[in-house]
Amino acid sequence: MTNNVLVLPGDGIGPEIVAQAVKVLELVNSQDNLDLSIDEALLGGAAIDATGGPLPEETMAKAKACDAILLGAVGGPKWESLDMAIRPERGLLGIRSELGLFGNLRPAMLYSQLADASSLKADLVSGLDILIVRELTGGIYFGQPRGIRTLENGERQGYNTYVYSESEIVRIGRLAFESAMKRGKRLCSVDKANVLEVTELWREIMEDLSKEYPEVELSHMYVDNAAMQLIRAPKQFDVIVTGNMFGDILSDAAAMLTGSIGMLPSASLDKNGKGMYEPCHGSAPDIAGQGIANPLATILSVAMMLRYTFGFGETADRIENAVSSVLDQGYRTGDIYTDGMKKASTGEMGEAVLTALRA
Ligand code: NAD
Repeated sequence: MTNNVLVLPGDGIGPEIVAQAVKVLELVNSQDNLDLSIDEALLGGAAIDATGGPLPEETMAKAKACDAILLGAVGGPKWESLDMAIRPERGLLGIRSELGLFGNLRPAMLYSQLADASSLKADLVSGLDILIVRELTGGIYFGQPRGIRTLENGERQGYNTYVYSESEIVRIGRLAFESAMKRGKRLCSVDKANVLEVTELWREIMEDLSKEYPEVELSHMYVDNAAMQLIRAPKQFDVIVTGNMFGDILSDAAAMLTGSIGMLPSASLDKNGKGMYEPCHGSAPDIAGQGIANPLATILSVAMMLRYTFGFGETADRIENAVSSVLDQGYRTGDIYTDGMKKASTGEMGEAVLTALRA
């Protein structure tokens, strides 16, 4: 069976970094007989320039038909004055909601070679490898009712609703347990069950689910403590599962522990494991077109795609090991460069990964 991958290079540095990631995908496809078929489409500003809108029908049709999507990044100053409804970011949100990508996987990994890039002491973060599983389409960001109303006394009041149904919690819980099974088999569920009923239910359901995954060691932590522990001793975590808002905040905090945004991949998955894979960073218009962007986050997104959508864990390991090996050899793009290392362009970094994969 053919495994269909749709590539959406997007804007800014997107096409530059995606070009390197696609070379990696093509190489492992032929080396490991993965039966991948790779197609490409327009999204974001590039789509606006070509068709007038950020998410052309053809792109949406291809996105629905494929098994996995590799995205560069969208957006940039050129399109910032456009109406909100047709900005590049709308294209991205449109795909996420249309495809029901409810599960966001955000690893925070710090290759020991880059431990000095973190704002924390190197020994606290060296070798850090956490996966945050964030619910992406529910919770307080989407709950109804919501709005700003005027009370009888004339005072205005803002209100939102924090709501999760059982099925939504089971769905994200299962994804988290399955992810933990593919890693260190430790899962920490983050909630605020001492204050919020919705997370009391969350905790109860995580406990129920844990009976189906006896190999996974489940623990619970209140979100305020989780924030502290992430800064105090981040290596205690393997997989963290949490709701939309807590996940939004904790995953950004965890990403910053690594100090190098050009290194972090992410995945957004639907209920069948179909996914959109992309680097955590944006389109970096300040360095676009210069050939100096770090392609490793996008290359590591390819590894996530192979592991989570296609189940090619061994190939994913090979890509991650190749990245580690080029760091060992001293290759550094500008964002992770330190004195004495080998300054590499986007293309040279990509080439170094290909060479490591061929070795
Ligand atoms: P950004 O992540 O694009 O850039 C922040 C800083 O990090 C910049 O200095 C940039 O040069 C640097 N950087 C980012 N990725 C890098 C890489 N691979 N290699 C080297 N340096 C890198 O964030 P921003 O500047 O806030 O946003 C720029 C544009 O990207 C905006 O239009 C924003 O809307 C868009 N954006 C898109 C996505 C997405 O497509 N998922 C996500 C975030 C931001």
